[in-house]
Amino acid sequence: MECLICTGKTFRFIDEKSGIVYHRCQECDVIFKDPVYHQTLEEQKRRYDLHTNDEADEGYRAYFQRFLDFVMPRVSGVGTALDFGCGRSRLLANILNDMNIKADAYDPLYHPDTEYNSKKYDLIVSTEVFEHLHDPKTLFLELLTLLNQGRYIALQTQFYPEDPNDFSGWYYHKDPTHIVFFAPKTFRVLADICGCDYLDDNSKNMVIFQKR
Ligand SMILES: [Zn+2]
Repeated sequence: MECLICTGKTFRFIDEKSGIVYHRCQECDVIFKDPVYHQTLEEQKRRYDLHTNDEADEGYRAYFQRFLDFVMPRVSGVGTALDFGCGRSRLLANILNDMNIKADAYDPLYHPDTEYNSKKYDLIVSTEVFEHLHDPKTLFLELLTLLNQGRYIALQTQFYPEDPNDFSGWYYHKDPTHIVFFAPKTFRVLADICGCDYLDDNSKNMVIFQKR
């Protein structure tokens, strides 16, 4: 199968525990589930509706704070932001607003107002979104068009374990709505293909890019 990210050659492997078929790119290291396991938005929504993200929950706030602790020291001149794929909660956008960054939030299921499409932003954040996408490269390119020049996209998604023996026991790919799994190298290749700069990652689950 052709790679979702770089159109490179992939090889196929089967997870012994689940029997799920995966493809891994030999060029960019992305791993993705075979398209037969991809779900529609409605199927995904049924699962998301079970999530309880209480905005008053200090743990949920701290979770976003860890993300911003990675992002904010690496950016400058950020006056506007978009939280793309925020889910039910606008909490991350609200936290950014409290930091004097004018932030919008968009989610195809819960906050479907597409007004963001006509705006430009200094920072686009997208947490726990990219692992759900059938076509992450197309969305990444779209997000780049919404950025002002020299500004930033920051993503959060768990990087898969480096040791292939650890993949089967890794919790993250067991969620049926998670279909694409990244390594830092995948994001470096994506940045090259899309013509933006790879700024940094935390070698765990966060990555930041800068538009040229
Ligand atoms: Zn690839």
